[in-house]
Amino acid sequence: MQRIKKPKTRYEPSEFLLDEFKRAGLSPTPSKLKILDIFHENANGSLSAYDVYNVGQKKNFNLSMSTVYVSIGRLVSYELLVVTMFTGNEKKFRLNKGQKNSVIKCPHCGTFEDFDGEKISRLCSETLLSMNFSPEKCVFSIDALCNRCR
Ligand SMILES: [Zn+2]
Repeated sequence: MQRIKKPKTRYEPSEFLLDEFKRAGLSPTPSKLKILDIFHENANGSLSAYDVYNVGQKKNFNLSMSTVYVSIGRLVSYELLVVTMFTGNEKKFRLNKGQKNSVIKCPHCGTFEDFDGEKISRLCSETLLSMNFSPEKCVFSIDALCNRCR
């Protein structure tokens, strides 16, 4: 009966998404594609597994909570997503945007802005090297009030 009201539309991943999987060397299962798709639609935000699940429900993506958890884990280990941890204890994730992976977040309204953390990254590397550590990765997340909230 439900089929009449809501015909199951076949999910068609974009070429762009498939390419991303190819580049990462991860096999593109329908659930992973849908989940990465959701992250692309929220390209400037961070999403928790629960957020992804909710969006998936609205879109009729038919993703279970455990599928969301497992798939996000895979997407993180293949570096398509990165973990962003801000104040609060909910783990959130966002698209991995390579060099521009540093982010400024307004703690008031939650607006995100990516920025090129290369310069700070270099400074960070030099500091670490002088302390006898070899830096593997420097990612910055800064809380700062945005224009509207100031
Ligand atoms: Zn703000």
